[in-house]
Amino acid sequence: MAVTDDAPMNPDRVIETHDPRSGALLAVVADQPAHEVRAAVERARIVAADWAEVGVRERIDHLLGVRDRLLKRADLLTETIVAETGKQRAEAVTTELMAVCETIEWYAQHAARILSPRSVAPGTLAHKRAWVRHEPLGVVGVISPWNYPFTLSMTPLVTALFAGNAAVLKPSEVTPTVGLAIAELFEDDRWGGLVEVVTGGGATGEALVRSGVDKVVFTGSVRTGKRVMAAAADSLTPVLLELGGKDPMIVCRDADLERAARGAVWGAFQNSGQTCMSVERVYVDREVADEFIRRVVVLTGDIRQGGAFGDIGSMTFEPQLEVVEAHLRDAVDKGARVLVGGRRRQRPGLWFEPTVVVDVDHGMDLMTEETFGPVLPIMVVDDAEEALRWANESRYGLNSSVWTEDRALGEDLAARVRAGNVCINDCIVSYAICGLPFGGVKDSGIGRVHGPEGLLEFTTTKSVMAPRVALPREPWWFPVPRHLERVALAATRARFRRGRRRR
Ligand code: NAD
Repeated sequence: MAVTDDAPMNPDRVIETHDPRSGALLAVVADQPAHEVRAAVERARIVAADWAEVGVRERIDHLLGVRDRLLKRADLLTETIVAETGKQRAEAVTTELMAVCETIEWYAQHAARILSPRSVAPGTLAHKRAWVRHEPLGVVGVISPWNYPFTLSMTPLVTALFAGNAAVLKPSEVTPTVGLAIAELFEDDRWGGLVEVVTGGGATGEALVRSGVDKVVFTGSVRTGKRVMAAAADSLTPVLLELGGKDPMIVCRDADLERAARGAVWGAFQNSGQTCMSVERVYVDREVADEFIRRVVVLTGDIRQGGAFGDIGSMTFEPQLEVVEAHLRDAVDKGARVLVGGRRRQRPGLWFEPTVVVDVDHGMDLMTEETFGPVLPIMVVDDAEEALRWANESRYGLNSSVWTEDRALGEDLAARVRAGNVCINDCIVSYAICGLPFGGVKDSGIGRVHGPEGLLEFTTTKSVMAPRVALPREPWWFPVPRHLERVALAATRARFRRGRRRR
């Protein structure tokens, strides 16, 4: 439950949240100080002890109940997400509600298997049994961003719970009412308090990192991620970091150009480009560049912005829109050409036209820094090898995509692109396959969500050894037998000589 429900708000410690489509004030919520964060963690810790004891079956049952509540409140949740982010209702349903239901489903089906003890061959110690246990960590701190405020809060929360932990969420100060709606989803007679929500800005987030939680799962910018990791280092608190991206798209000369152009436009502009895995830069083979760019420009011009059935909504956060404008200015100053879009729309709220830019290079921020807005820069290259070189010329490595009709070439480029994820002839949606671990390399993060790896992130590993055959004493115990060296060497030679296994 949110701490804000319990106490009257201190008027000096509040944050306001606005509808980015119009600028209208939506809500005022508490900017919670460190002692309230610590109190939330302590409350969660009490429930965590009981939750860790219940079997996976009961956890699954409880989380399916959370999903039932989500489905019952789907309209209200959609409205809350849309009002605070400016995204379209269809985007909110597909990328937030559906995505979370899918994650719960995957772990409901697979958590018991992934978490069950795994036996390990004892090697030389043949008279022993050995196995690995996956145990809950305790209380997990979750800090989330504003671009997918529901999915990126719920995914670590439900995964933490499947693994037997309690959790405390600090949603983005840009989207706190989505966080409060999440708190309501976890209200429950038996297991209320398993998820606590604290609201506030960066200081509240830092207080959570320093609160004694057993792991911090942070999704946000590289800059803040580094601060989180530094603060966590003081107490050696482990971190899972899902950070920014500058995802490359490689368009080969044999690509299905119509599909590639449609994919580029969707990948760059869905959610107004505010996706960590947005297509942020395209490298297209010179042989097909003109045709590809022509199609991209036409399709971009056709995008419907806003309205009940528009393709994309507004942007969410004024400072991010300013980053978009700064990157564009820098690129144009250095010789880039804007083919379509390039301006704020003349209406209240955070509306920026979908924008396509050419004549770009890696001397421009637009090609090297995360823009996180509706801008698609396209660079022409000589061939797929050059495209791959530029794709890997980045401090980021989150998602990536390769577009070709040649299966072998696609798989070869996919193997050589330096990123945590890669899609062939598609983009972004690999995240929807919950069995695939998701996360970044290089500055894009540490650790994974989704898949078996994503669940095990929320556990600690305990290795157990026990006798298979009970001996009165082990052969190497004191006093060391005089023949130990001779017998051990003979056994070592016999066991490890080459080719033994083949015979
Ligand atoms: P941000 O880093 O500004 O903020 C993220 C969260 O961190 C917020 O809740 C904020 O209050 C909190 N915070 C700020 N300072 C803190 C501190 N010192 N200690 C602890 N917490 C602190 O990011 P944002 O602008 O909300 O989100 C956009 C960024 O998130 C983009 O870079 C995007 O690529 C990234 N992102 C990554 C993924 C992924 O899965 N890899 C997904 C979505 C977004």
